[in-house]
Amino acid sequence: MVHPEFTLLGDAVWLDFVNSARGRTPAPPDLLPDAAAFARWTRAQRLMQLDGGAPYPTIRDFRRQLTALAKALDGGLQPPAGPIAAINAVLAASTGSHRLTRIGGEWRLQFAPARPLAPLEAIARSAAATLADPAVAVRRCAGETCSLFLADSSPNRSRRWCTPAICGTTLRVERRRGPLR
Ligand SMILES: [Zn+2]
Repeated sequence: MVHPEFTLLGDAVWLDFVNSARGRTPAPPDLLPDAAAFARWTRAQRLMQLDGGAPYPTIRDFRRQLTALAKALDGGLQPPAGPIAAINAVLAASTGSHRLTRIGGEWRLQFAPARPLAPLEAIARSAAATLADPAVAVRRCAGETCSLFLADSSPNRSRRWCTPAICGTTLRVERRRGPLR
């Protein structure tokens, strides 16, 4: 997914959110420096626009919490209590009902929101879904100067780069040259 203003890997909304303060260069700019930028970001993500959404400091603090979560998962650590509490606080504000749905021949318990989700709710649900799915690994891109986080759901957890065509190129060139002798 190529966007002129934002880096959207499209793996998970919450990681795109975290990645808005990260990038492929050593000192990337913060792409969400204010509420207006966050509004543009939610449009790029096709998230619901709601009047009177969360104030900017809340948005920035939530991103800080989720960044700590991504770092912990990348490091193979248990998620810290702060990010979990922050996610649960946002989820607690969602109203809706649980519903049994049959998907691919299997019954699933799903939560059906009573109203369209606010952007932070959509981000929180995305983070919760990643945490609750053992088949998804969160890790930092292996690109030398890249700090983007990616969600690896490949069968053998072999994904290394946010975008192989960009971050995987250098390593591939080195490998083709062969090891130093
Ligand atoms: Zn990368």
